[in-house]
Amino acid sequence: MLSAIAMLILIMAWFIAGFFGTWFVVGILALMPSSSIPTLAEFLAANPTCKTHAGISCKFCGSKSIRLWRDESGYAIRQQHYCNHCNALLYRSG
Ligand SMILES: [Zn+2]
Repeated sequence: MLSAIAMLILIMAWFIAGFFGTWFVVGILALMPSSSIPTLAEFLAANPTCKTHAGISCKFCGSKSIRLWRDESGYAIRQQHYCNHCNALLYRSG
């Protein structure tokens, strides 16, 4: 009788560890790719000359033609902004 209860506790502990372990991995996967790309505020703080009266310009070639790329793969929807001329990834939003 005692071993059955011990077994039940063991199964519950294994289930809880598996549940939280999965969400821990999901959290790391959701946070890691986005942290390497600066936000618009961080981008403008690092490149103050890129803020023009006509909008945001590319820090590499100065082009104001920037396209929005929505990445909906995975758990978090990321909006990434690329330069249309030199194809550089500039910043993210959302
Ligand atoms: Zn560019």
